[in-house]
Amino acid sequence: MAQATSTRPIYLDHHATTPVDPRVLGQMYPYFSQYFGNPGSDHAYGIEAGCAIERARQQVAAALQAREDEIIFTSGGTEANNLAIAGVAERYGEQRRHMITCQTEHMAVLNVCRELERQGWGVTYLSVDEQGCLDLEDLRRAITAETTLISIMAANNEIGVLAPLAEIGEIAHAHNVLFHTDATQAAGLLSLDVRAMQIDLLTLSAHKVYGPKGVGALYVRKTPPPGLLVPQVRGGGHERGLRSGTLNVPGIVGLGEALGIAVNEQKCDTTRLRDLRDRLWDGLSASITGIVRNGHPTKCLPNNLNVAIPGVDAQNMLALLRPTVALSTGSACHTFTREPSHVILALGKSPEHARCTLRMGLGRFTTVQEIADAVHQISSAVSQLRG
Ligand SMILES: *Cc1c(COP(=O)(O)O)cnc(C)c1O
Repeated sequence: MAQATSTRPIYLDHHATTPVDPRVLGQMYPYFSQYFGNPGSDHAYGIEAGCAIERARQQVAAALQAREDEIIFTSGGTEANNLAIAGVAERYGEQRRHMITCQTEHMAVLNVCRELERQGWGVTYLSVDEQGCLDLEDLRRAITAETTLISIMAANNEIGVLAPLAEIGEIAHAHNVLFHTDATQAAGLLSLDVRAMQIDLLTLSAHKVYGPKGVGALYVRKTPPPGLLVPQVRGGGHERGLRSGTLNVPGIVGLGEALGIAVNEQKCDTTRLRDLRDRLWDGLSASITGIVRNGHPTKCLPNNLNVAIPGVDAQNMLALLRPTVALSTGSACHTFTREPSHVILALGKSPEHARCTLRMGLGRFTTVQEIADAVHQISSAVSQLRG
């Protein structure tokens, strides 16, 4: 049975997922059983569902400064990343079999790259500096005549570090290379403009922006036939033939609404989040000796705080905090493998440092009181474990 909200732990894991905004849920609701039609059907039920899809497509396109016919709905960020990378690879793999990505990418990018390597592709995994930033000179040097694609995330899901998207887009296009960015964490919090930033492919996921799980989108820049991609899910030819399968109508309505709200409220949301995040860091650093921040202090998502507490095992912290504060050691993926975070290791830190690392992600509904309580709970847990 669901517990009363007031008795539940403080939620500081918004990089893993966000709650559906009640306004989003309100828009989705009628599309489950009242307007349940298949948007592929040529009758009143299909047409009303189809109108809802096209409205959502407009909302998503507007959030990116893209055109509506450049938005392909998917089952989430993972599928969008797979479609972008594997789809380009299949289109261009006869001619040019090299791509460039970064060591700190999400597994939904890294594991697609590993698969391309098994198929004989060359993949360059760029390293980052101790704050998680790429060197654009390294990027330029990595480009060869064989390079087809650069895939660099807009904002990191563990340390929140931001990539200079416009600069990367410029370099990619100067060398006639395609540019994909996984903007799953950045969407809603940063202004994204696929034209100004010269982005060819961009990944979104609804559940990281206060929409539902299981739905996302890929922006695919419109080019003359045959287009940039070969479909990876084949079937009835939905989504301009690039991704088949009956559309998740309520989910897509939710994605569109969630992005619409995020764009409208971006300014005040990001200011508020940055203030809360700074309070959290000020509180923790005042009460926990030796605590250090991972990542870059300013080129960072406003809602991210990633810290290492030397000598305090993060798994023990999570266990101790379980009744009071929900946070994580790194991405949800590492929870399955129990490996030290590949992102923290890429900063040049030791596995020991990675095992003492906690990731905190603040959200739209996080309050000042929750931050004060979380500081208290976290510093008490540290005293207990060190004590
Ligand atoms: C969550 C996340 C994904 C995966 O998105 P899903 O919709 O959960 O498949 C991909 N990339 C990044 C950066 C993420 O944070």
